[in-house]
Amino acid sequence: MTNALRTGPATISCDVLVVGGGAAGVAAATAAGRAGAQVMLLERYGFLGGLATAAQVGTVCGLYLRDTTNPEALPVAGGFVKEFALRLQRATDGGPLRLDAGLWVLPFSIPAFARVADAVVAESGNVNVVLHATVAEAQAEGPCLVEVRALAWNEPLVISPRTVVDCSGEATVAALTGAGVESGIADQAPSLVFVMENIDPGLVERGLVEVRRELRRAVEAGSLPAACERLALIPSMDRNGRLTLKLNLAVAESNRPLWQQVTDWEREARALVDELQRFLVRNIAACRNAHLSSIAPQLGIRSGRRIQGRARLADEDVLAARKSSVGIARGAWPMERWGNGPRPEMTFFSEHGYYEIPLDCLRPAELDNVLVAGRCLSAAAGAMTSARVIGTALATGWAAGTVAAFQALGRPLDGAVETIRQQMNQ
Ligand SMILES: Cc1cc2nc3c(=O)[nH]c(=O)nc-3n(C[C@H](O)[C@H](O)[C@H](O)COP(=O)(O)OP(=O)(O)OC[C@H]3O[C@@H](n4cnc5c(N)ncnc54)[C@H](O)[C@@H]3O)c2cc1C
Repeated sequence: MTNALRTGPATISCDVLVVGGGAAGVAAATAAGRAGAQVMLLERYGFLGGLATAAQVGTVCGLYLRDTTNPEALPVAGGFVKEFALRLQRATDGGPLRLDAGLWVLPFSIPAFARVADAVVAESGNVNVVLHATVAEAQAEGPCLVEVRALAWNEPLVISPRTVVDCSGEATVAALTGAGVESGIADQAPSLVFVMENIDPGLVERGLVEVRRELRRAVEAGSLPAACERLALIPSMDRNGRLTLKLNLAVAESNRPLWQQVTDWEREARALVDELQRFLVRNIAACRNAHLSSIAPQLGIRSGRRIQGRARLADEDVLAARKSSVGIARGAWPMERWGNGPRPEMTFFSEHGYYEIPLDCLRPAELDNVLVAGRCLSAAAGAMTSARVIGTALATGWAAGTVAAFQALGRPLDGAVETIRQQMNQ
């Protein structure tokens, strides 16, 4: 009898390997596929979307300029970001929504996000999507990554790519080669999203005021843990008494290994949500007939590991809405840092302003044929609280995929930057 796992798999070659199928990875794979490269996209879950679908974050930020007066949302850039937003809008049967301070978001339904992601990747024609595939090894020879190993549905996979785009949200590929990375885990608090159904819709209109009052009382009386006060409402597509909420945990201050920390957080957050939902049903009249209908499959981690790049997006670049001659993505969302309170600390830049992310923020300092996108970007902690949002992750993903394809197909890098900059202006 042969043991397939021991025999060892054949090596698969491709032009561009994209690791991670979140917003950044979907955009990167689509860009590289449309540019004519043969692409493999590896995603550890059974669906695309990353935090947008696995952590069920509910709205896309960073698609539109901040604007307090215009009746319609103004897109921050053209090209793929605009295309994806329009497709998501159609699939969700909704539209952009203006929140406080002129911030526009696009609420979406979770299945619609996954469906649009599947469609755009498939339509490019050149992308081989492998779901349930977790990358666990990456080997570099000098500045060149030569091999990536994964387990795909528990079968080993060995890939020899010309270029790689690391969209893992954790700079996993870069870290596995030994390239410089930094941890952002203590920068922001994680949150767990959950949905309750059969709630009196009047509760939302009243802005959860009575819920907050009762939670405070219960926490002060010692009948609920203090963490239950960190409850926030997600603006969403919810109708008919359906409410999407998120519970924020505290910022990490621990020396435990990350895998242990995340496991503990997941369990702690689910236990708190259970306590919270029972409290709401018992104590809030508008929730008397409500029930907990779902909890996101994954805890939402806002900032993970990121690369040390050839350039680094600084807080001042964001706040000054700085442009760059090699800017390949635009960011329009303010700095939004979730600490230990129920609401984030917001730091705004000018209305209608946007900053540009230079290409070198997507290039690890020590690797020539690897790019990163989304949350793996080289950025200071404050800048990351802006650049991590889905709209900007789509933009950096698109740019990284385009550059990776040009590099794999032997086309000049200047041409890639020019193409991306033209698309942003469309
Ligand atoms: C609680 C919370 C609320 C948020 N709210 C909003 C919001 O309202 N609007 C907004 O725009 N943004 C929001 N964000 C931020 C936003 O969701 C993320 O920053 C963005 O989705 C990141 O996209 P990404 O593609 O860079 O990373 P991710 O979405 O994290 O994607 C990474 C992908 O890589 C996969 N992966 C990881 N490791 C491996 C591996 N070894 N092998 C294979 N695959 C791997 C993961 O499964 C995942 O699919 C929120 C974030 C959190 C945590």
